[in-house]
Amino acid sequence: MDYLSDVMKAAVWGEVPPQVPKWNTWLHRNLSETHCQECLKLDKCWFSKEKTPKWPHHPFCHCVLEDISYNGVLTKSSAECAYSKFDPYLFNTKKTYSHNKEILFNQWGYTVTEAKWLQEEVTKQGLKKYTVGDYMLGKLDEKGQRIGIRVEIPRRDKVGSVSFITGWMVYPNGQIKLVTPYGGR
Ligand SMILES: [Zn+2]
Ligand SMILES: [Zn+2]
Repeated sequence: MDYLSDVMKAAVWGEVPPQVPKWNTWLHRNLSETHCQECLKLDKCWFSKEKTPKWPHHPFCHCVLEDISYNGVLTKSSAECAYSKFDPYLFNTKKTYSHNKEILFNQWGYTVTEAKWLQEEVTKQGLKKYTVGDYMLGKLDEKGQRIGIRVEIPRRDKVGSVSFITGWMVYPNGQIKLVTPYGGR
């Protein structure tokens, strides 16, 4: 269950509404001569309080965490998945990759015909899960903070579903962008 459904449920059943999830934004302050790339990349990125990168990030880190409204997180966040992450990348339509990820998806009944659907589904689930804090903090380096989000899709070869981890990069002001459509089971 996520926060919004819990609020609706509480309203319908006359229960006490759930606690509003707490989110904060990372703010980098220009107080020192040297700027560390990692803190610069985190600047203005939004995280759920429980899943914020280690702060302070290092000795003499001048960054601060500022609370932001959860309503803003729900209404202003956005997720972006480039079509190219599915075609040609995931389905290996140009036969230029050796990742073999297309074999897995083929086994689940997916071919490049479903690339557009997958793109939309991964975008939708990614955004929803990010905004309810259902993500895992991944690697942070000079390119930025990565997060992992579990996505579930129906199997097309038989009844049932499969889930896997999608990899994303966090950008300022609630934006996340897909890095890898399949990052493992
Ligand atoms: Zn730093
Ligand atoms: Zn810092």
